[in-house]
Amino acid sequence: MYANSVQDLIDELARLPGVGPKSAQRIAFHLLKLSPDDALRLARAISTVKERVSWCRRCFNIAEGRRDEAQPDHEVECEICADPKRDPTVICVVEEPRDLVAVEKTREFRGKYHVLQGAISPIDGIGPDKLRIRELLARLDREGVKEVILCTNPNIEGDATALYLGTLLKPLPLKVTQVARGLPAGGDLEYADELTLGRALEGRRELVD
Ligand SMILES: [Zn+2]
Repeated sequence: MYANSVQDLIDELARLPGVGPKSAQRIAFHLLKLSPDDALRLARAISTVKERVSWCRRCFNIAEGRRDEAQPDHEVECEICADPKRDPTVICVVEEPRDLVAVEKTREFRGKYHVLQGAISPIDGIGPDKLRIRELLARLDREGVKEVILCTNPNIEGDATALYLGTLLKPLPLKVTQVARGLPAGGDLEYADELTLGRALEGRRELVD
């Protein structure tokens, strides 16, 4: 229906999360109308993040720079892991880097993080093996962790993930806590306001049988 290159663009846009075929067409035609400079800025922003940004080798947060081409995926460390002023004995477990940002905004937390890069969701075929759980377990002993705070989203997938991790971690010689509810149920951490999330973190409770 369209020139090949336009159809390719629409197809690529339609693969983005939350973008259906109609929105993909709308965005494609918006891009066609932009000046080359404006449109190429977007293209450059995408290629730049793909060149410079990868996952932190320790916590799987977004990490920029110091990438070793010989070992492209595992040689970068994020700013938080590299910060010697942060308490390495407390790890806050979140689903995605955006959740880490939400917790950081509260300014209530001075420990380190672990980003699971998802949540357990059988419907979407995401089991525990697809998350960075093995990597979390490997850190606990190595880094002398004394407390793990479960800070998953207050929805079905987040709760399932916290339950799974709780069962896994409880037998270990460390404290396992979960952020207090009072967060809007069914929501996402990133939409909770800083005060609410800060209080939820402060009012975290230890998991008991
Ligand atoms: Zn990190």
